[in-house]
Parts: sequence; structure tokens; C-alpha cells
Amino acid sequence: MIDKIFPETLKILSDLIKFQTTSGDSNLKLIEYCEKKLNKVGAKSFKTFNNSGSQANLFSTIEGENSNQGIILSGHTDVVPALSDEWASDPYIAKEKDNKVYGRGTCDMKGFIACTLAVAPLFASKKLKKSIHFSYTFDEETGCLGAPLVLADLKKRNIEFLGCIIGEPTNMKPITAHKGYNEYITYFTGLSGHASNPESGISAIEYAIRYSNKLLELREELKKRKSSKSIFSPSYSTLQIGKISGGLGANVIADQCSIEWEVRPINNEDGNFVTEKIDAFASNILLPEMQKNNQKANIKKKIIGEVVGFDKKENSDAVNLVCNLTGDNSRSSMSFGTEAGLFQNSGISTVICGPGSIEQAHTVDEFITYDQLKKCLRMLISLKEKMIN
Ligand SMILES: [Zn+2]
Repeated sequence: MIDKIFPETLKILSDLIKFQTTSGDSNLKLIEYCEKKLNKVGAKSFKTFNNSGSQANLFSTIEGENSNQGIILSGHTDVVPALSDEWASDPYIAKEKDNKVYGRGTCDMKGFIACTLAVAPLFASKKLKKSIHFSYTFDEETGCLGAPLVLADLKKRNIEFLGCIIGEPTNMKPITAHKGYNEYITYFTGLSGHASNPESGISAIEYAIRYSNKLLELREELKKRKSSKSIFSPSYSTLQIGKISGGLGANVIADQCSIEWEVRPINNEDGNFVTEKIDAFASNILLPEMQKNNQKANIKKKIIGEVVGFDKKENSDAVNLVCNLTGDNSRSSMSFGTEAGLFQNSGISTVICGPGSIEQAHTVDEFITYDQLKKCLRMLISLKEKMIN
């Protein structure tokens, strides 16, 4: 069975790599390609779009007898940017070498999408007892912007699901939890002036430092809030300031400064705690001081992305299913964000399990091994067996 489907998987993967679906760019051609393939085998599809209509999510179903007992196979269609001159070969042309396929998105996560598309005719050839759904979203990498639209639409359609498998690269190991991931840039606007009289201006840098110090205080408080049940490493929510930019030189009062920072909360409460405390500090303490001399002085926090965490659930249907399908009973957590928390918050039992290693995701010369693709195909073929019985 694998011998027949595997060459088709490679062909589809190489087609998918050619669509340059960097986050933020249009993914419509790729979606059209997937929709055609799925509709050809009898799937019913619907799409949801971003505001400008340049990006779409596809949700397709191969209907089973019991349409409210389906499994969702979920993948994101966007990829992180690739700089061609850093790669050994063109990142948007799949290159096969040493039983690996190289190309942007091979492991994160067009490899998984290719596997699901290659197995689709097999799902369609047998009368399914339960439905199989394919969910392909846009802009996961920049804060899971597409998935909420699909989930809102599914709610309206009143469909229920047995579970959802998110095929992010986990080396085909079942992953049952991850922290949330919140990313921010805070911009400070002050007033420039000659350094000989600091009182004449408003130093954006100095306010950014006070804001940063507050963040570091909050970081210590997060450690104290840790729960004894946490399965993560580190076991508490973390906060990190990754970049600070601003200023012209020692003798000029800086009128601009920005800091880029992130929080990885173990639960929603910790994420909200940081937001409330830092926003209150900025608007109640820093801003009135800054605006005393100049109304134009400002602090603006931009949310780059807030990816909700994925919580471990006892006796999760989706986790049990994947352990059963793969024969792998390990259950672990991981440290990168996915759409899993969004599906889970919609009441859908969810697990993350997909081909490829996270070590290759987002890297130069990203690749996926044949072995991982075949393991994924085996899981999907076993899923078909389960769905006809
Ligand atoms: Zn991914």
C-alpha cells in the first residue's frame, strides 16, 4: 500500500513547495490545488477568507455514515520566509537527496498536508462509518490568524467531531500539551532635545528601561505562580525581552525606542496577569509622567501574536486514537506554539502528531526524511481502517 502512495506523496509535496506561501502572502493558488484534489474524490469543501480575500482556509469533508463523528486532519499552509542565497538549493523547488526532501515547508508542515492529500483517494474508496475532515489554514506562523475563522464557521454549522490531529512536526510522537506564546512590541515616543539639559526632552529610552524593569519584576512573580501540576520545562510561565532599539547617540535625548518581548504562559491566567499588570503600569504610572511636558509622548503596545496554550487532558480521545494508530504510547509536551489550543478551546479533543523534526522547521535547508513521511502515511492508512469499522 505504502509503495503505491509514497511516490504520489512526493509528487504532491513538490507541488506544494512551489507555492510560495510565506505568512502574510496569498495562499489562494495552493488552496485551489488542495480543493481540486479533494473535490475530485468526492469531498465537500468550504472556505473562509481574510478581510481582503487574499488568503483562505479550506475545510473539506469526505462524508461517513455518521457525519458528527469525524476526525479532523489539520495543517497550516503558510511557511516562514526563506532567503534563497543562504540555501544550498532553491527553497521553493523540492530537492530529493539521501532519502530526504529539501525545501521550505517540507517539515513545517507541507509534508503532513501532502500525506493527507495522497491518502484522500483511499479514504474515499471505502464506505466510511465516520467522516474525515481536512483543515488547511493560513497564517499560523504569525499568530494563528486563520484557524479562528474556520472554528467560528464550524460552530455555525453545528458539526461535532471525535477529535483533531494537528500534523506539526513531532517525529510522529503524540504531543499532549504546549505552553501559550504571546509576542509583543512596545513602542515609546518621547521628545528629542540636547543632552546637556535632560529636562528639556523626554527620553523614550529611559521610559523603555523602566517598562523593562517592570517586565523583569513580573517575570519573578510568574515563577512564584507556578503550579505543582505543571508538566512543562521550565515548569512556570516565562517572560523574555529579546530586542531593544532606539536612540542616536550619547549626546541626544532619544525620542524613539522599542522593545520586543514575549511571554510563554503555562495557562491563560498567567498570560492575562502579565497583560493587566504591564498595561496598568504603562497607563497609570509612565504615561502621565511622559505626557506632563508633552501630550504627544506615548506608549503603544502592539500584539504580534497571542497563541493560546494547549492543555493536557486526562483520557483524551484524540491522544488515545493517535497512540493506538502509531503504536507509540509516549505522551510528551513541547515548547512551541500551534493551533492545538484553539481547536481544544472549541471543545474538540486534540493531539499534535506529525512527520519531521522541529529541529528542521524554520531552518535554512529545511528537510523531511522519507522515513517520517512513510510513518505518517502508515498512521493515516490505519486511520482509514478504523473509520470503516
Ligand atoms: Zn508549524
